[in-house]
Amino acid sequence: MTSQPHDLDAGEVIIDGKLHGWTGRPCPNCQGSGEGAGYNGEWRKCTACAGTGDEHGLLDNQPADMSVYYKTADEWLKTDPYKGITILDPDGWDRKNLDASWAEPITEEEFNFRLSISTASYPKDFFCIITASTNA
Ligand SMILES: [Zn+2]
Repeated sequence: MTSQPHDLDAGEVIIDGKLHGWTGRPCPNCQGSGEGAGYNGEWRKCTACAGTGDEHGLLDNQPADMSVYYKTADEWLKTDPYKGITILDPDGWDRKNLDASWAEPITEEEFNFRLSISTASYPKDFFCIITASTNA
């Protein structure tokens, strides 16, 4: 059985194998007001919650199976929008231990980071697809 690609919801991020996101509780930094006092006493948007007043932190509801968020490099390369990319020079992976590093299950965020510091060839319409999906 293969795990299906699973997208993180807005604001969600995996930290140390745990899902973090908007908890729905008041931000402890600004007590939910969305504002805090700046250095010179002026009021400004709270930096901890970006002015939303919502706490960003460890979510109470953790997915039963966190492994759906993790894939190996080969598995990510078989999913949209990475299909057709060929990694020519895997600088983002541990080159001294490439087989093990390549086979390591990683999050999409980590995969994107490793891809960004590697040399890769992209399909002709790749950046059009990315632009279209981020503008959707
Ligand atoms: Zn806040």
